[in-house]
Amino acid sequence: MTNLVTNLAAAVEEYGDNTAIGYQGSETSYEEFWGQTGAFATALESRGVGADDRVAIYLPNVPPFLIAFHGTLRAGGAVVPMNPQYKAREIGHLLSDSEAKVVVALADLVPFVTEVQDETSVEHIVSVGGDADGATELTEFLEPGDPDIVERDDDDVAVQPYTSGTTGQPKGVQLTHDNLASNANAASELIPDGIREDDKQLGVLPLFHIYGMTVVMNSTLFNGGAFYPLPSWDAQEAVSLIEDEELTLMHGVPAMYNDVINQPNAEEFDLSSVRLCGVGGSGIPVEVLRKFEELYEPKVYEGYGLTETSPITHFNSPIEGRRVGSVGKTVPGVDSKVVDEAFEEVTPVDEGPIDEETTDLREITGEIVVAGPNVMKGYYGLPEANEEAFTEAGGRRWFHTGDIGYRDEDGFYYVVDREKHMIVTGGYNVYPREVEELLFEHEAVADAAVAGIPDERRGETIKAFIVPTPDADVTADEIREYCLTNLAEYKHPREVEFVEELPRTTTGKVQKFKLRGEEAE
Ligand code: AMP
Repeated sequence: MTNLVTNLAAAVEEYGDNTAIGYQGSETSYEEFWGQTGAFATALESRGVGADDRVAIYLPNVPPFLIAFHGTLRAGGAVVPMNPQYKAREIGHLLSDSEAKVVVALADLVPFVTEVQDETSVEHIVSVGGDADGATELTEFLEPGDPDIVERDDDDVAVQPYTSGTTGQPKGVQLTHDNLASNANAASELIPDGIREDDKQLGVLPLFHIYGMTVVMNSTLFNGGAFYPLPSWDAQEAVSLIEDEELTLMHGVPAMYNDVINQPNAEEFDLSSVRLCGVGGSGIPVEVLRKFEELYEPKVYEGYGLTETSPITHFNSPIEGRRVGSVGKTVPGVDSKVVDEAFEEVTPVDEGPIDEETTDLREITGEIVVAGPNVMKGYYGLPEANEEAFTEAGGRRWFHTGDIGYRDEDGFYYVVDREKHMIVTGGYNVYPREVEELLFEHEAVADAAVAGIPDERRGETIKAFIVPTPDADVTADEIREYCLTNLAEYKHPREVEFVEELPRTTTGKVQKFKLRGEEAE
Protein backbone atom coordinates (compact mmCIF):
# COMPACT_ATOMS: atom_id res chain seq x y z
CA MET A 1 0.00 0.00 0.00
CA THR A 2 1.20 3.49 -0.73
CA ASN A 3 0.26 6.96 0.39
CA LEU A 4 0.60 10.35 -1.32
CA VAL A 5 1.80 12.22 1.77
CA THR A 6 4.43 9.71 2.83
CA ASN A 7 5.65 9.51 -0.77
CA LEU A 8 6.18 13.28 -0.92
CA ALA A 9 7.76 13.33 2.56
CA ALA A 10 10.25 10.67 1.46
CA ALA A 11 11.15 12.69 -1.66
CA VAL A 12 11.71 15.83 0.46
CA GLU A 13 13.97 13.82 2.77
CA GLU A 14 16.02 12.49 -0.14
CA TYR A 15 16.05 15.42 -2.58
CA GLY A 16 15.52 18.45 -0.28
CA ASP A 17 17.77 20.86 -2.25
CA ASN A 18 16.57 19.85 -5.72
CA THR A 19 14.18 22.07 -7.63
CA ALA A 20 10.61 20.84 -7.19
CA ILE A 21 8.88 23.60 -9.18
CA GLY A 22 10.24 25.91 -11.88
CA TYR A 23 7.87 28.72 -12.79
CA GLN A 24 8.46 31.91 -14.78
CA GLY A 25 12.20 31.85 -14.13
CA SER A 26 12.06 31.19 -10.38
CA GLU A 27 12.69 27.90 -8.66
CA THR A 28 11.27 26.33 -5.51
CA SER A 29 13.25 23.57 -3.81
CA TYR A 30 11.68 20.46 -2.30
CA GLU A 31 12.43 21.84 1.20
CA GLU A 32 10.74 25.16 0.39
CA PHE A 33 7.77 23.39 -1.18
CA TRP A 34 7.37 21.23 1.92
CA GLY A 35 7.35 24.41 4.01
CA GLN A 36 4.61 25.91 1.81
CA THR A 37 2.44 22.82 2.04
CA GLY A 38 2.98 22.83 5.82
CA ALA A 39 1.78 26.45 5.98
CA PHE A 40 -1.33 25.54 3.98
CA ALA A 41 -2.05 22.51 6.19
CA THR A 42 -1.59 24.61 9.36
CA ALA A 43 -3.99 27.24 8.00
CA LEU A 44 -6.60 24.56 7.33
CA GLU A 45 -6.15 23.00 10.76
CA SER A 46 -6.52 26.30 12.57
CA ARG A 47 -9.86 26.78 10.78
CA GLY A 48 -11.07 23.37 11.86
CA VAL A 49 -10.63 21.76 8.46
CA GLY A 50 -9.10 18.31 8.77
CA ALA A 51 -9.56 14.58 8.32
CA ASP A 52 -11.80 13.74 5.39
CA ASP A 53 -12.89 17.34 4.77
CA ARG A 54 -13.02 18.36 1.12
CA VAL A 55 -11.00 21.26 -0.29
CA ALA A 56 -11.84 22.33 -3.84
CA ILE A 57 -9.08 23.67 -6.10
CA TYR A 58 -10.29 25.96 -8.87
CA LEU A 59 -7.01 26.98 -10.47
CA PRO A 60 -5.05 26.64 -13.68
CA ASN A 61 -1.54 25.15 -13.56
CA VAL A 62 0.22 27.57 -11.22
CA PRO A 63 2.42 26.76 -8.19
CA PRO A 64 -0.43 27.43 -5.67
CA PHE A 65 -2.25 24.43 -7.21
CA LEU A 66 0.56 22.19 -5.99
CA ILE A 67 0.69 23.90 -2.58
CA ALA A 68 -3.06 23.56 -2.02
CA PHE A 69 -3.08 19.97 -3.32
CA HIS A 70 -0.32 18.60 -1.11
CA GLY A 71 -1.19 20.95 1.79
CA THR A 72 -4.73 19.59 1.88
CA LEU A 73 -3.47 16.01 1.94
CA ARG A 74 -1.04 16.79 4.78
CA ALA A 75 -3.98 18.13 6.79
CA GLY A 76 -5.82 14.83 6.19
CA GLY A 77 -8.31 16.36 3.76
CA ALA A 78 -9.28 15.33 0.24
CA VAL A 79 -8.98 17.45 -2.90
CA VAL A 80 -11.83 18.22 -5.30
CA PRO A 81 -10.16 19.53 -8.47
CA MET A 82 -12.36 21.80 -10.62
CA ASN A 83 -11.79 22.85 -14.22
CA PRO A 84 -10.98 26.60 -14.19
CA GLN A 85 -13.08 26.95 -17.35
CA TYR A 86 -16.21 26.03 -15.42
CA LYS A 87 -18.75 28.72 -14.61
CA ALA A 88 -20.96 29.13 -11.51
CA ARG A 89 -23.58 26.59 -12.61
CA GLU A 90 -21.02 23.84 -13.17
CA ILE A 91 -19.03 24.35 -9.97
CA GLY A 92 -22.29 24.67 -8.00
CA HIS A 93 -22.98 20.99 -8.54
CA LEU A 94 -19.42 19.92 -7.71
CA LEU A 95 -19.27 21.98 -4.53
CA SER A 96 -22.63 20.92 -3.16
CA ASP A 97 -22.20 17.27 -4.11
CA SER A 98 -18.75 17.02 -2.52
CA GLU A 99 -19.68 19.21 0.48
CA ALA A 100 -16.40 21.08 0.09
CA LYS A 101 -15.61 23.38 3.02
CA VAL A 102 -12.84 25.39 1.37
CA VAL A 103 -12.31 26.62 -2.19
CA VAL A 104 -8.94 27.83 -3.46
CA ALA A 105 -9.73 29.89 -6.56
CA LEU A 106 -8.06 32.24 -8.98
CA ALA A 107 -9.11 35.77 -7.91
CA ASP A 108 -11.00 36.25 -11.19
CA LEU A 109 -13.03 33.09 -10.54
CA VAL A 110 -14.02 33.92 -6.96
CA PRO A 111 -17.29 35.63 -8.07
CA PHE A 112 -18.49 32.30 -9.46
CA VAL A 113 -17.89 30.73 -6.04
CA THR A 114 -19.65 33.50 -4.10
CA GLU A 115 -22.58 33.27 -6.51
CA VAL A 116 -23.31 29.67 -5.49
CA GLN A 117 -21.87 29.68 -1.95
CA ASP A 118 -25.30 29.75 -0.24
CA GLU A 119 -26.29 26.44 -1.81
CA THR A 120 -23.06 24.75 -0.66
CA SER A 121 -21.09 23.98 2.52
CA VAL A 122 -18.24 26.33 1.56
CA GLU A 123 -16.96 28.19 4.65
CA HIS A 124 -13.70 29.67 3.37
CA ILE A 125 -12.62 31.00 -0.01
CA VAL A 126 -8.92 31.53 -0.68
CA SER A 127 -7.99 33.72 -3.63
CA VAL A 128 -4.88 33.35 -5.75
CA GLY A 129 -3.33 36.13 -7.81
CA GLY A 130 -5.08 39.05 -6.11
CA ASP A 131 -7.79 40.11 -3.67
CA ALA A 132 -11.44 39.28 -4.24
CA ASP A 133 -14.61 40.07 -2.33
CA GLY A 134 -15.52 37.31 0.09
CA ALA A 135 -12.09 35.65 -0.07
CA THR A 136 -8.79 35.66 1.85
CA GLU A 137 -5.73 36.10 -0.33
CA LEU A 138 -3.47 33.03 -0.25
CA THR A 139 -0.42 34.70 1.35
CA GLU A 140 -2.64 36.01 4.16
CA PHE A 141 -4.31 32.62 4.56
CA LEU A 142 -1.05 30.67 4.98
CA GLU A 143 0.22 30.10 8.53
CA PRO A 144 3.84 29.04 8.76
CA GLY A 145 4.15 25.79 10.66
CA ASP A 146 5.26 22.22 10.35
CA PRO A 147 2.15 20.28 11.33
CA ASP A 148 2.19 16.62 12.18
CA ILE A 149 0.99 14.66 9.20
CA VAL A 150 -2.61 13.62 9.85
CA GLU A 151 -2.63 9.85 9.64
CA ARG A 152 -4.83 8.59 6.83
CA ASP A 153 -5.44 5.01 5.80
CA ASP A 154 -4.14 4.17 2.37
CA ASP A 155 -7.66 3.41 1.25
CA ASP A 156 -9.04 6.73 2.47
CA VAL A 157 -10.13 9.11 -0.29
CA ALA A 158 -7.40 11.58 -1.30
CA VAL A 159 -8.87 13.15 -4.43
CA GLN A 160 -12.40 13.32 -5.77
CA PRO A 161 -12.37 14.49 -9.40
CA TYR A 162 -15.62 14.71 -11.34
CA THR A 163 -16.14 13.01 -14.64
CA SER A 164 -19.09 13.11 -17.00
CA GLY A 165 -20.97 9.91 -17.42
CA THR A 166 -23.09 9.03 -20.41
CA THR A 167 -25.99 11.01 -19.02
CA GLY A 168 -26.74 13.70 -16.51
CA GLN A 169 -24.48 15.38 -14.02
CA PRO A 170 -20.78 14.68 -13.55
CA LYS A 171 -20.05 11.97 -11.02
CA GLY A 172 -17.53 12.27 -8.16
CA VAL A 173 -14.79 9.63 -8.51
CA GLN A 174 -13.38 8.56 -5.15
CA LEU A 175 -9.67 7.92 -5.57
CA THR A 176 -7.71 6.74 -2.55
CA HIS A 177 -4.14 7.41 -1.48
CA ASP A 178 -3.19 3.94 -2.63
CA ASN A 179 -5.00 4.31 -6.00
CA LEU A 180 -3.10 7.50 -6.79
CA ALA A 181 0.29 6.76 -5.27
CA SER A 182 0.52 3.28 -6.81
CA ASN A 183 -0.31 4.72 -10.23
CA ALA A 184 2.21 7.58 -9.91
CA ASN A 185 4.84 4.96 -9.04
CA ALA A 186 3.78 2.79 -11.99
CA ALA A 187 4.02 5.82 -14.32
CA SER A 188 7.64 6.29 -13.31
CA GLU A 189 8.55 2.62 -13.62
CA LEU A 190 7.33 2.51 -17.22
CA ILE A 191 10.15 4.62 -18.58
CA PRO A 192 13.85 3.75 -18.81
CA ASP A 193 15.60 4.39 -15.44
CA GLY A 194 12.27 5.63 -14.05
CA ILE A 195 11.80 9.35 -13.53
CA ARG A 196 15.16 10.66 -12.34
CA GLU A 197 16.17 13.56 -10.14
CA ASP A 198 17.68 15.31 -13.17
CA ASP A 199 14.41 15.09 -15.12
CA LYS A 200 12.52 18.26 -15.95
CA GLN A 201 8.87 17.75 -16.73
CA LEU A 202 6.65 19.97 -18.90
CA GLY A 203 3.52 20.66 -16.84
CA VAL A 204 1.00 21.79 -19.43
CA LEU A 205 -1.62 19.07 -19.10
CA PRO A 206 -4.27 20.43 -16.75
CA LEU A 207 -3.62 19.49 -13.14
CA PHE A 208 -7.32 19.25 -12.36
CA HIS A 209 -7.38 16.24 -14.72
CA ILE A 210 -6.06 12.90 -13.58
CA TYR A 211 -3.45 12.58 -16.37
CA GLY A 212 -1.71 15.83 -15.39
CA MET A 213 -2.15 15.15 -11.70
CA THR A 214 -0.74 11.62 -11.48
CA VAL A 215 1.45 10.92 -14.49
CA VAL A 216 2.91 14.39 -14.84
CA MET A 217 2.88 16.10 -11.42
CA ASN A 218 3.01 13.40 -8.75
CA SER A 219 5.28 10.97 -10.55
CA THR A 220 7.81 13.82 -10.92
CA LEU A 221 7.52 15.06 -7.33
CA PHE A 222 7.91 11.58 -5.88
CA ASN A 223 11.20 11.06 -7.70
CA GLY A 224 13.13 14.27 -7.16
CA GLY A 225 12.49 15.74 -10.63
CA ALA A 226 11.52 19.33 -11.43
CA PHE A 227 8.01 20.27 -12.52
CA TYR A 228 7.45 23.24 -14.88
CA PRO A 229 3.79 24.30 -14.81
CA LEU A 230 2.24 26.22 -17.70
CA PRO A 231 -1.23 27.69 -17.05
CA SER A 232 -2.61 27.17 -20.54
CA TRP A 233 -1.78 25.52 -23.83
CA ASP A 234 0.02 27.55 -26.43
CA ALA A 235 2.26 25.57 -28.78
CA GLN A 236 4.85 28.35 -29.20
CA GLU A 237 5.04 28.98 -25.46
CA ALA A 238 5.30 25.29 -24.59
CA VAL A 239 8.07 24.71 -27.12
CA SER A 240 9.98 27.81 -25.92
CA LEU A 241 9.82 26.50 -22.35
CA ILE A 242 11.16 23.12 -23.50
CA GLU A 243 13.99 24.80 -25.41
CA ASP A 244 14.92 27.40 -22.74
CA GLU A 245 14.85 25.05 -19.75
CA GLU A 246 15.98 21.97 -21.68
CA LEU A 247 13.07 19.94 -20.42
CA THR A 248 13.50 16.17 -20.61
CA LEU A 249 9.93 14.82 -20.34
CA MET A 250 6.81 15.92 -22.15
CA HIS A 251 3.25 14.66 -21.93
CA GLY A 252 0.33 15.90 -23.97
CA VAL A 253 -3.00 14.99 -25.48
CA PRO A 254 -3.09 14.23 -29.22
CA ALA A 255 -4.47 17.71 -30.05
CA MET A 256 -1.28 19.26 -28.60
CA TYR A 257 1.01 17.15 -30.79
CA ASN A 258 -1.17 17.98 -33.78
CA ASP A 259 -0.95 21.67 -32.93
CA VAL A 260 2.86 21.57 -32.67
CA ILE A 261 3.32 19.96 -36.11
CA ASN A 262 0.88 22.44 -37.69
CA GLN A 263 2.75 25.55 -36.49
CA PRO A 264 4.15 27.61 -39.40
CA ASN A 265 7.65 27.37 -37.89
CA ALA A 266 7.31 23.72 -36.83
CA GLU A 267 10.54 22.77 -38.60
CA GLU A 268 12.58 25.17 -36.50
CA PHE A 269 11.63 23.72 -33.11
CA ASP A 270 14.39 21.97 -31.18
CA LEU A 271 13.01 19.25 -28.93
CA SER A 272 16.27 17.34 -28.64
CA SER A 273 16.49 17.75 -24.83
CA VAL A 274 13.32 15.63 -24.44
CA ARG A 275 14.07 11.97 -23.77
CA LEU A 276 10.47 10.78 -23.83
CA CYS A 277 7.07 12.02 -24.97
CA GLY A 278 3.87 10.51 -23.63
CA VAL A 279 0.41 10.84 -25.12
CA GLY A 280 -3.06 9.77 -24.03
CA GLY A 281 -6.52 11.04 -23.16
CA SER A 282 -7.76 10.09 -26.61
CA GLY A 283 -6.25 8.05 -29.42
CA ILE A 284 -3.46 9.78 -31.34
CA PRO A 285 -4.03 9.45 -35.09
CA VAL A 286 -1.14 7.38 -36.47
CA GLU A 287 -0.47 10.10 -39.05
CA VAL A 288 0.04 12.76 -36.36
CA LEU A 289 2.48 10.54 -34.46
CA ARG A 290 4.39 9.77 -37.66
CA LYS A 291 4.71 13.43 -38.67
CA PHE A 292 5.84 14.44 -35.18
CA GLU A 293 8.56 11.78 -35.20
CA GLU A 294 9.66 12.83 -38.68
CA LEU A 295 10.22 16.37 -37.45
CA TYR A 296 11.70 15.76 -33.98
CA GLU A 297 14.01 13.41 -32.13
CA PRO A 298 11.94 12.09 -29.22
CA LYS A 299 9.58 9.21 -29.79
CA VAL A 300 5.96 9.39 -28.68
CA TYR A 301 4.65 6.62 -26.41
CA GLU A 302 0.92 6.22 -26.18
CA GLY A 303 -0.92 5.21 -23.03
CA TYR A 304 -4.51 4.73 -22.04
CA GLY A 305 -6.56 5.13 -18.92
CA LEU A 306 -9.46 6.86 -17.24
CA THR A 307 -10.17 9.12 -14.30
CA GLU A 308 -11.65 6.07 -12.56
CA THR A 309 -8.34 4.20 -12.89
CA SER A 310 -6.06 6.97 -11.56
CA PRO A 311 -5.44 6.90 -14.70
CA ILE A 312 -2.91 4.60 -16.47
CA THR A 313 -3.92 1.04 -17.23
CA HIS A 314 -2.04 0.54 -20.52
CA PHE A 315 1.19 1.93 -21.90
CA ASN A 316 3.51 1.38 -24.85
CA SER A 317 6.52 1.25 -22.61
CA PRO A 318 9.89 1.92 -24.28
CA ILE A 319 11.22 -0.85 -22.02
CA GLU A 320 8.77 -3.44 -23.34
CA GLY A 321 8.65 -2.12 -26.91
CA ARG A 322 5.82 -0.27 -28.59
CA ARG A 323 3.36 -0.96 -31.35
CA VAL A 324 2.14 2.17 -33.13
CA GLY A 325 -1.65 2.30 -33.23
CA SER A 326 -1.86 0.34 -29.98
CA VAL A 327 -2.35 1.78 -26.49
CA GLY A 328 0.25 -0.73 -25.30
CA LYS A 329 0.25 -3.51 -22.73
CA THR A 330 -1.37 -3.57 -19.33
CA VAL A 331 0.89 -1.81 -16.83
CA PRO A 332 2.47 -3.88 -14.02
CA GLY A 333 0.07 -4.60 -11.17
CA VAL A 334 -3.02 -3.97 -13.29
CA ASP A 335 -5.12 -6.67 -15.00
CA SER A 336 -7.31 -6.19 -18.02
CA LYS A 337 -9.26 -8.18 -20.55
CA VAL A 338 -11.67 -7.73 -23.43
CA VAL A 339 -15.09 -9.20 -22.71
CA ASP A 340 -18.35 -9.79 -24.56
CA GLU A 341 -21.81 -9.05 -23.20
CA ALA A 342 -21.81 -12.31 -21.21
CA PHE A 343 -18.48 -11.26 -19.62
CA GLU A 344 -16.66 -14.03 -21.52
CA GLU A 345 -13.17 -13.15 -22.72
CA VAL A 346 -12.97 -12.39 -26.46
CA THR A 347 -10.24 -14.36 -28.29
CA PRO A 348 -7.20 -12.17 -29.09
CA VAL A 349 -6.03 -11.64 -32.68
CA ASP A 350 -2.56 -12.89 -33.74
CA GLU A 351 -0.89 -9.55 -34.18
CA GLY A 352 -2.40 -6.08 -34.30
CA PRO A 353 -3.28 -3.62 -35.54
CA ILE A 354 -5.70 -5.55 -37.71
CA ASP A 355 -6.78 -4.48 -41.17
CA GLU A 356 -10.25 -3.13 -40.51
CA GLU A 357 -11.24 -3.62 -44.14
CA THR A 358 -10.80 -7.38 -44.05
CA THR A 359 -11.72 -8.17 -40.44
CA ASP A 360 -15.19 -8.00 -38.98
CA LEU A 361 -14.73 -5.87 -35.89
CA ARG A 362 -17.68 -7.49 -34.17
CA GLU A 363 -15.81 -10.78 -33.96
CA ILE A 364 -12.64 -9.51 -32.34
CA THR A 365 -13.80 -6.63 -30.16
CA GLY A 366 -15.49 -6.30 -26.81
CA GLU A 367 -15.47 -4.00 -23.83
CA ILE A 368 -12.17 -3.40 -22.07
CA VAL A 369 -12.45 -4.11 -18.33
CA VAL A 370 -9.71 -3.56 -15.74
CA ALA A 371 -8.89 -4.51 -12.14
CA GLY A 372 -6.04 -3.40 -9.89
CA PRO A 373 -4.83 -1.15 -7.08
CA ASN A 374 -5.49 1.92 -9.25
CA VAL A 375 -9.21 1.31 -9.68
CA MET A 376 -11.41 3.80 -7.80
CA LYS A 377 -13.23 3.04 -4.60
CA GLY A 378 -16.48 4.00 -6.37
CA TYR A 379 -18.57 6.95 -7.47
CA TYR A 380 -19.49 9.18 -4.55
CA GLY A 381 -23.03 8.62 -3.29
CA LEU A 382 -24.22 6.87 -6.45
CA PRO A 383 -24.95 3.19 -5.64
CA GLU A 384 -26.69 2.58 -8.99
CA ALA A 385 -23.79 3.94 -11.02
CA ASN A 386 -21.44 1.73 -8.98
CA GLU A 387 -23.62 -1.28 -9.60
CA GLU A 388 -23.29 -0.69 -13.35
CA ALA A 389 -19.59 0.13 -13.28
CA PHE A 390 -18.34 -3.09 -11.66
CA THR A 391 -18.61 -6.84 -12.20
CA GLU A 392 -17.34 -9.29 -9.58
CA ALA A 393 -15.74 -12.30 -11.27
CA GLY A 394 -12.98 -14.73 -10.37
CA GLY A 395 -12.46 -13.00 -7.04
CA ARG A 396 -11.71 -9.69 -8.77
CA ARG A 397 -13.66 -6.47 -8.97
CA TRP A 398 -13.65 -5.54 -12.68
CA PHE A 399 -14.30 -1.98 -13.79
CA HIS A 400 -16.15 -1.41 -17.06
CA THR A 401 -14.31 1.23 -19.09
CA GLY A 402 -17.07 1.78 -21.68
CA ASP A 403 -14.39 1.53 -24.38
CA ILE A 404 -14.53 -0.96 -27.22
CA GLY A 405 -11.26 -2.59 -28.18
CA TYR A 406 -9.35 -5.75 -28.91
CA ARG A 407 -6.11 -7.41 -27.86
CA ASP A 408 -3.40 -9.29 -29.73
CA GLU A 409 -1.51 -12.46 -28.73
CA ASP A 410 1.47 -10.37 -27.60
CA GLY A 411 -0.66 -8.48 -25.08
CA PHE A 412 -1.01 -5.18 -26.96
CA TYR A 413 -4.42 -3.52 -26.69
CA TYR A 414 -6.18 -1.46 -29.37
CA VAL A 415 -8.95 0.98 -28.52
CA VAL A 416 -11.46 1.17 -31.34
CA ASP A 417 -13.65 3.90 -29.84
CA ARG A 418 -15.94 4.72 -26.98
CA GLU A 419 -18.98 2.46 -26.97
CA LYS A 420 -21.31 5.43 -26.93
CA HIS A 421 -19.67 7.03 -30.00
CA MET A 422 -20.55 4.13 -32.26
CA ILE A 423 -22.69 5.22 -35.19
CA VAL A 424 -25.46 2.94 -36.40
CA THR A 425 -26.20 3.81 -40.01
CA GLY A 426 -28.54 1.78 -42.18
CA GLY A 427 -28.04 -1.18 -39.85
CA TYR A 428 -24.24 -1.01 -39.98
CA ASN A 429 -22.02 -0.19 -37.01
CA VAL A 430 -19.31 2.37 -37.69
CA TYR A 431 -16.73 3.65 -35.24
CA PRO A 432 -15.81 7.28 -35.96
CA ARG A 433 -12.16 6.65 -35.08
CA GLU A 434 -11.58 4.56 -38.19
CA VAL A 435 -12.87 7.30 -40.51
CA GLU A 436 -10.96 9.96 -38.57
CA GLU A 437 -7.66 8.06 -38.97
CA LEU A 438 -8.19 8.12 -42.74
CA LEU A 439 -9.06 11.81 -42.80
CA PHE A 440 -5.82 12.67 -40.98
CA GLU A 441 -3.91 11.06 -43.86
CA HIS A 442 -5.37 13.60 -46.32
CA GLU A 443 -2.91 16.43 -46.97
CA ALA A 444 -5.62 19.12 -46.81
CA VAL A 445 -6.78 18.06 -43.33
CA ALA A 446 -5.33 19.72 -40.23
CA ASP A 447 -7.90 18.36 -37.79
CA ALA A 448 -10.97 16.17 -38.13
CA ALA A 449 -13.80 14.52 -36.24
CA VAL A 450 -16.68 12.30 -37.27
CA ALA A 451 -20.10 11.99 -35.62
CA GLY A 452 -23.48 10.38 -36.25
CA ILE A 453 -26.26 12.81 -37.14
CA PRO A 454 -29.92 11.74 -36.78
CA ASP A 455 -31.33 10.67 -40.13
CA GLU A 456 -34.84 9.48 -40.87
CA ARG A 457 -33.87 6.87 -43.40
CA ARG A 458 -30.65 5.46 -41.96
CA GLY A 459 -31.16 6.10 -38.26
CA GLU A 460 -27.90 8.02 -38.24
CA THR A 461 -25.83 9.41 -41.05
CA ILE A 462 -22.08 9.93 -40.90
CA LYS A 463 -20.85 13.49 -40.90
CA ALA A 464 -17.22 14.67 -41.01
CA PHE A 465 -16.13 17.98 -39.53
CA ILE A 466 -12.86 19.14 -41.00
CA VAL A 467 -10.41 21.91 -40.19
CA PRO A 468 -8.50 22.41 -43.45
CA THR A 469 -4.79 23.27 -43.54
CA PRO A 470 -4.20 27.02 -44.15
CA ASP A 471 -3.47 26.82 -47.90
CA ALA A 472 -5.80 23.91 -48.65
CA ASP A 473 -8.02 24.03 -51.69
CA VAL A 474 -10.38 21.13 -51.17
CA THR A 475 -14.11 20.55 -51.55
CA ALA A 476 -16.59 18.44 -49.62
CA ASP A 477 -17.06 16.27 -52.74
CA GLU A 478 -13.35 15.54 -52.91
CA ILE A 479 -13.31 14.45 -49.25
CA ARG A 480 -16.34 12.19 -49.80
CA GLU A 481 -14.72 10.73 -52.92
CA TYR A 482 -11.45 10.14 -51.02
CA CYS A 483 -13.30 8.24 -48.27
CA LEU A 484 -15.31 6.22 -50.79
CA THR A 485 -12.12 5.06 -52.48
CA ASN A 486 -10.58 3.97 -49.20
CA LEU A 487 -13.47 2.66 -47.11
CA ALA A 488 -16.50 0.46 -47.46
CA GLU A 489 -19.36 2.49 -48.92
CA TYR A 490 -21.45 2.51 -45.72
CA LYS A 491 -18.55 4.06 -43.72
CA HIS A 492 -18.03 7.13 -45.87
CA PRO A 493 -19.26 10.50 -44.58
CA ARG A 494 -22.32 11.56 -46.58
CA GLU A 495 -21.98 15.04 -45.14
CA VAL A 496 -18.79 17.09 -44.84
CA GLU A 497 -18.54 20.44 -43.11
CA PHE A 498 -15.46 22.66 -43.01
CA VAL A 499 -14.99 24.42 -39.68
CA GLU A 500 -12.39 26.75 -38.17
CA GLU A 501 -11.85 24.61 -35.13
CA LEU A 502 -13.35 21.63 -33.34
CA PRO A 503 -15.05 21.94 -29.96
CA ARG A 504 -12.73 20.26 -27.47
CA THR A 505 -12.52 19.80 -23.72
CA THR A 506 -9.45 21.19 -21.96
CA THR A 507 -8.12 17.65 -22.05
CA GLY A 508 -8.32 17.47 -25.82
CA LYS A 509 -11.39 15.31 -26.28
CA VAL A 510 -13.68 16.36 -29.12
CA GLN A 511 -17.11 17.21 -27.71
CA LYS A 512 -19.10 15.05 -30.08
CA PHE A 513 -22.41 16.03 -28.53
CA LYS A 514 -21.75 19.58 -29.72
CA LEU A 515 -21.09 18.35 -33.26
CA ARG A 516 -24.39 16.50 -33.10
CA GLY A 517 -26.05 19.71 -31.96
CA GLU A 518 -27.08 18.23 -28.62
CA GLU A 519 -27.17 19.94 -25.25
CA ALA A 520 -24.79 17.75 -23.25
CA GLU A 521 -23.41 14.26 -23.30
P1 AMP B 1 -10.93 10.63 -18.68
O1 AMP B 1 -11.73 10.05 -17.58
O2 AMP B 1 -11.21 12.06 -18.94
O3 AMP B 1 -9.48 10.39 -18.48
O4 AMP B 1 -11.35 9.88 -20.02
C1 AMP B 1 -11.14 8.50 -20.19
C2 AMP B 1 -11.45 8.11 -21.60
O5 AMP B 1 -10.52 8.71 -22.50
C3 AMP B 1 -11.34 6.63 -21.88
O6 AMP B 1 -12.48 5.92 -21.47
C4 AMP B 1 -11.13 6.61 -23.37
O7 AMP B 1 -12.36 6.69 -24.06
C5 AMP B 1 -10.34 7.88 -23.63
N1 AMP B 1 -8.90 7.58 -23.82
C6 AMP B 1 -7.90 7.80 -22.97
N2 AMP B 1 -6.71 7.44 -23.53
C7 AMP B 1 -6.98 6.97 -24.76
C8 AMP B 1 -6.19 6.44 -25.84
N3 AMP B 1 -4.87 6.36 -25.78
N4 AMP B 1 -6.86 6.02 -26.95
C9 AMP B 1 -8.19 6.13 -27.05
N5 AMP B 1 -8.98 6.63 -26.09
C10 AMP B 1 -8.39 7.05 -24.96
